[in-house]
Amino acid sequence: MSPDLFLKNAQVVTENEVFHGSVSVQGEKIAGIVHGDQDVEASQVIDLQGKVLLPGVVDGHVHFNEPGREHWEGYRTGTMAAAAGGVTSVLEMPLNSTPPTTNRAMLELKRQTVAGQAVIDYGNWGGLVDNNLADLEALNADGVIGYKAFASASGVDFERLNDDLIYAGLSKMREMGNLIGLHAENEWVCAYLSQQLKAGGRTDRAAWYESRPPFAELETVQRASYWAKVTGGNLHVVHVSIADGIRSIAKARQAGVHVTAETCPHYLFFDHQDFERIGPAAKCAPPIRSRQDVEALWECVLGGLVDTIGSDHSPCTWDEKVKGMENIWKAWGGISGVQLTLPVLLSEGVNKRDLALPALARMLSYNPARLFGLYPQKGAIQVGADADLVVVDLDKEWTLTAEQLFYKNKFSAYVGSTFKGQVQRTLVRGKTVYQDGQIVAQPGYGKLLRRSYPYAY
Ligand SMILES: [Zn+2]
Repeated sequence: MSPDLFLKNAQVVTENEVFHGSVSVQGEKIAGIVHGDQDVEASQVIDLQGKVLLPGVVDGHVHFNEPGREHWEGYRTGTMAAAAGGVTSVLEMPLNSTPPTTNRAMLELKRQTVAGQAVIDYGNWGGLVDNNLADLEALNADGVIGYKAFASASGVDFERLNDDLIYAGLSKMREMGNLIGLHAENEWVCAYLSQQLKAGGRTDRAAWYESRPPFAELETVQRASYWAKVTGGNLHVVHVSIADGIRSIAKARQAGVHVTAETCPHYLFFDHQDFERIGPAAKCAPPIRSRQDVEALWECVLGGLVDTIGSDHSPCTWDEKVKGMENIWKAWGGISGVQLTLPVLLSEGVNKRDLALPALARMLSYNPARLFGLYPQKGAIQVGADADLVVVDLDKEWTLTAEQLFYKNKFSAYVGSTFKGQVQRTLVRGKTVYQDGQIVAQPGYGKLLRRSYPYAY
């Protein structure tokens, strides 16, 4: 039987290599991989004319605010934006929606609410807060891919953890074979510095990053890694913004601790100067760092020390941002980035800094799929895997406009930025969901993903 689809004449990227070749698709799965020019007969043949074919991005960190804050994003627009950014699976956070996903009933409510909305595949994070240790087992049984937790105040709806629950939670993770995704910043030092800055009358943009310095992040990375070592529990430190944090995690992992690091595209793109110019749309926590920090973080990415890169897509209404124009403390924190992760990495990484394409595929697809128990269905171009694929024009230069965004609220810190490297087509399970600026899949095409095996990274 001939395959349904033959994607030929591509630079095929796997987690190990790049080669000139083709990929055939039967139904929802990759059916064959061809090295070189050999043709395969298929119902549909697409000549990619030498463009790059990557495994679809598995974005391990998005907030889509559904249920309860759909006016901020929602699964429909969130997954459309993801598809336009070459993302084929999103793993969605338990907070900034209401109620937050901290027990079985709330997870069920979320799944019912979002059913029929997504154009790409999606999985759910559970949450670890101050009162739900007893709920973790049921969430695990229902297939959450991890548990988000905060070492510092989260903003709304979601309680911060002290060391007692970081310890207890990590112990539980070891038992269940799941992981904690930790927001690592020191609550007390950040709170103290904020108070001092506010008392001094500071409302300017620099006050935001001065209140959350690199050392406050590094302390919590190290403290949490220590508890991971003591408990044998699995820790994934999310949105690490500093090279020292990445290096500390890599060192602990080499010593056998179950700890991994995620960074985000905005920490590899924007610096203090950009933040002071852009203002509230680029406010996030940890904050945007100095240019020196950005370049040091790139060294970690290029040196293979970063496990995963996730967008931390954290949208809100423009109202929530605009109120911080003259007083940065008042703006909601979060960057809308799910549509830009791959473009940032292609432009700033592959094109500007010689980041190898297989390394990119590891950080964006292969590693997150393995970490969250989705591999080999997701995360790799290999026979038998879901045909989740992205076609990229590495040479295309373009400037982002607000009209190109699929977000519910069409603003982003990246608007006006220029990129070299563009997503042209995204396929999820063999079907094109995005092509040349258009979403071509129906809401509801996206399927629910569950962690399918215990932590084995
Ligand atoms: Zn987040």
